[in-house]
Amino acid sequence: MSRTDASAAPRQGAHLASGISISDVSHSYGAQGGSGVLALDGINLEIGDGEFHCLLGPSGCGKSTLLYLVGGFIPVQSGTISTAAGLVTAPGPDRSIVFQNFALFPWKTVKDNVLYGLKKAGYPSAEREPRAQRYIDMVHLTGFENAYPSQLSGGMQQRAAIARTLAVDPGILLMDEPFGALDAQTRRVMQEELRAIWRESRKTVVFVTHDVQEAVFLADRISIMSARPGRIQHVIDVNLPKDRGEEILENRDFIGLSEHIWRLVREQAVAATRGVH
Ligand code: ADP
Repeated sequence: MSRTDASAAPRQGAHLASGISISDVSHSYGAQGGSGVLALDGINLEIGDGEFHCLLGPSGCGKSTLLYLVGGFIPVQSGTISTAAGLVTAPGPDRSIVFQNFALFPWKTVKDNVLYGLKKAGYPSAEREPRAQRYIDMVHLTGFENAYPSQLSGGMQQRAAIARTLAVDPGILLMDEPFGALDAQTRRVMQEELRAIWRESRKTVVFVTHDVQEAVFLADRISIMSARPGRIQHVIDVNLPKDRGEEILENRDFIGLSEHIWRLVREQAVAATRGVH
């Protein structure tokens, strides 16, 4: 589908939310054929259309590796990953990633950062400006269009990075601990905003975190991964109200589910420190 089509139907976007099918994916770093580090072992996972899915597990269990494989940033060695656009073999316009460290150009303003993404994605020049503004407004950075990243707080920088990523309208948004560098309070606000943005934009989101509360707050479903080599140990449905604000933290179901998941993750973290799984 061309970019002109995307602009003709901006609410739907060129890249509709798509499910992700991960089938028997394993991944080793280093030497091929045995002596490398086995980071992922036989991952099978179906992520639904428009789902908010969190990958949760101890540090080093392969969450980022799985995310980068879905993004096509590292080649799939074994097994298959597919989306509505077909088999994943490389990065594609249907998938975009937000990293922990914002990845904004420091010499460009907020608006120029967003415009750059649109230009790179091939949007016609007449559409870039209104589109950039719409997404800057969506992440509540109206009034900061001409600010440089160094003039913004960490939370604002991350909102700008999210605007840049959302503006190109990927069907699938990949997020690698995007709030990991933020203080606790800003992080909470960003989590609420991200869920609101997700509900409005109807993307499929795959979100990597090692924070149980963050995963339960954000997700529809959570995959708990084992210590290395990463395997999917549990896939848990989060049956909480779709509208989630701070009050959900007091909700008994939220607290109960968080404790349950915390115990499952802890088992993996203990296994990781003992080198057994
Ligand atoms: P997580 O995101 O869960 O912290 P990663 O996917 O970053 O885990 O890493 C999984 C494992 O693969 C870790 O043991 C890590 O040290 C290893 N690893 C990650 N990237 C590389 C790399 N480029 N080269 C070698 N080993 C790597």
